[in-house]
Amino acid sequence: MNPTQRDPMRILIDEQAIQRRVRELGQEIRATYGDEPVTAIGVLKGSFMFMADLVRAIDGEVRCDFLGVSSYQGGTRSTGVVRITQDLKHPIEGQHCLVIEDIIDTGLTIEYLLKMLEVRQPRSLRVAALLDKPSNRETKVTADFVGFTIPDEFVVGYGLDLGELYRNLPHIAVYTP
Ligand code: 5GP
Repeated sequence: MNPTQRDPMRILIDEQAIQRRVRELGQEIRATYGDEPVTAIGVLKGSFMFMADLVRAIDGEVRCDFLGVSSYQGGTRSTGVVRITQDLKHPIEGQHCLVIEDIIDTGLTIEYLLKMLEVRQPRSLRVAALLDKPSNRETKVTADFVGFTIPDEFVVGYGLDLGELYRNLPHIAVYTP
């Protein structure tokens, strides 16, 4: 029995819609950077599935690196305290960097990460977020590329978890206990 059968949850964005939008985002991103190489920085773990699909949708030169971040400590509310669990493996000075996030909610995590990366003097620093929950924002941060804007509900699937479960769903679902 898979988690969908065990805990039926309402599908908010189905697999086809995600795949279609990710392909569009890849083209938008490539058009923004022209022929320049892009350094994609995936914020683990939630963005791993989005990143895997997104980088395949961006033509040309793309480097991949990862930041490990823990902001929830297992619950469903941002604590505002961001813990870096894994730093980038390579310097980003002079590079066009695209931070890839699963979801921007309060904006506290991405604000912290952008401040941390800015001091490393990238040539440019942009953000691609699969999901945006603007109703909960506590900062002025906005993503340069957004897949879908969603209401203030706790979602799982396509990389997003609750207590490490549901990341493997191919769609985005509203978590219902
Ligand atoms: P923020 O700091 O913007 O409030 O939250 C950012 C992080 O919180 C995201 O990268 C994600 O890991 C987590 N998060 C925020 N909203 C949700 C949600 O609806 N579902 C899940 N699974 N994680 C979320």
